[in-house]
Amino acid sequence: TPSDSPTIIRPINKGVVHRICAGQVILDLSSAVKELVENSLDAGATSIEIALKDYGKECFQVIDNGSGISPNNFKVLALKHHTSKLGDFPDLQSLTTFGFRGEALSSLCVLGNLTVETRTKYESVATHLTYDRTGLLVAEKKTARQIGTTVTVNSLFSSLPVRCKEFTRNIRKEYGKLISLLNAYALIAKGVRLVCTNKTGKSVKSVVLKTQGSGSLKDNIITLFGMNTFNCLQPLTLCISDGCEVDGFVSKPGQGNGRNIGDRQFFYVNGRPVDMPKITKLVNELYRSANSQQHPVAILNFTVPTRACDVNVTPDKRKVFFSDENTILHALREGLQQIYSSSNACYAVNKAE
Ligand code: ADP
Ligand code: MG
Repeated sequence: TPSDSPTIIRPINKGVVHRICAGQVILDLSSAVKELVENSLDAGATSIEIALKDYGKECFQVIDNGSGISPNNFKVLALKHHTSKLGDFPDLQSLTTFGFRGEALSSLCVLGNLTVETRTKYESVATHLTYDRTGLLVAEKKTARQIGTTVTVNSLFSSLPVRCKEFTRNIRKEYGKLISLLNAYALIAKGVRLVCTNKTGKSVKSVVLKTQGSGSLKDNIITLFGMNTFNCLQPLTLCISDGCEVDGFVSKPGQGNGRNIGDRQFFYVNGRPVDMPKITKLVNELYRSANSQQHPVAILNFTVPTRACDVNVTPDKRKVFFSDENTILHALREGLQQIYSSSNACYAVNKAE
């Protein structure tokens, strides 16, 4: 019932706004780790280790050999909207880094306990930094470390009781999603060695994913999924329009071996792993016309001019807008039809038998 007293519209306290938004940037374990891995890639790392304790529930760490963080940035590192990557609004049109909003570290402070160890090539020792819930630097001490950065998050979601309960309840599912996401980065990252380990209880830590960082997408597919899977793939390269192309691999018509829909299907825009529902649907639909028994593997990178796409659509940056989506869909449909059109497909299925 409306009360008699006049309503007052007031600004929400800044700290409260920050707490509200943090839970949108970091949705779950995999989006938290994704932000840290992207920071390592942005820092030019050629070696990245993701170390989980109890599947990430107790703690996760991302250890890189990138540029490190210079001491004059220690105080502002985890403050909201503080970034070294975006200066002015027009920069948003020519982004080449994964990050640009300065939200990840500040959000992780709100949601868990953040510590950072870092050293640049200009320092002879590293510094261990502890931040509080609001992103303020509260402790600093010298430590030994190679050049690079280690970011550690303990007790993710400890500040959000409902999310924390969900997280604990679904830990295996969250972990599976994380491994799939790490596969997405490991496949596309050229010249980056990526390792993920997990340690549960008193057991020794086990390696759950590992690439050599040797180079090509082909090498990465073979390392991660094996030679048999690679042999069932065929390259797909299409020039769509000026400065716009798609490049990667899809299953041969008779030889899909994704176990479920969406399994082993990875899509990228300019090397950034993203969700592409329309393109995913198209690939699966056309594949089904040739082979209704199996699911296709698909690993496709779309190269588009940075001004022709917008990644600043959702807080987790998993969604993209293309300025010319229809042209892309049309070209991809034609390219896939060539591979999966009934005559070719029957031939391939027969051959596979
Ligand atoms: P963004 O990536 O959008 O800039 P983040 O909150 O993820 O925002 O990171 C804030 C800043 O901290 C980055 O702009 C970068 O300068 C620095 N930083 C974070 N992680 C690393 C890292 N692993 N190596 C070097 N610098 C880092
Ligand atoms: Mg970032």
